[in-house]
Amino acid sequence: MTEKQITCIICPIGCRITVRGEDDTVLSLEGNQCIRGEAYAKNEFIHPVRILTTTVKVEGADTPLIPVRSDQPVPQEKLMECMDLIKEVSVTKPVLRYQVIVPDILGTGANIVATGEVL
Ligand code: SF4
Repeated sequence: MTEKQITCIICPIGCRITVRGEDDTVLSLEGNQCIRGEAYAKNEFIHPVRILTTTVKVEGADTPLIPVRSDQPVPQEKLMECMDLIKEVSVTKPVLRYQVIVPDILGTGANIVATGEVL
């Protein structure tokens, strides 16, 4: 049996939740103060995801980097592979806010979009 300590980030209380289980099955869960924490902790145990934030090179601009993020959470186990792919990407200006820089990164369904602008 695997045990994970998870801090719920759904609200500022930040309950510490202990989840025990095997693979995709949660066997016990304690420490949450509400049902939202239960759902969050189960997802974190079974299939953790994260919003990816980083920067992308801008060729020939005064601003050499532009901030980007994924427009939806990416499986945690794919974060490093996504970062390696993004490191190889560069864009040319103009770059508009929310412009898609990498569509459907690694088939995750998440687009990498600019969160800044270079005009
Ligand atoms: S379990 Fe509920 S009360 Fe606790 S941090 Fe999560 S959302 Fe907030």
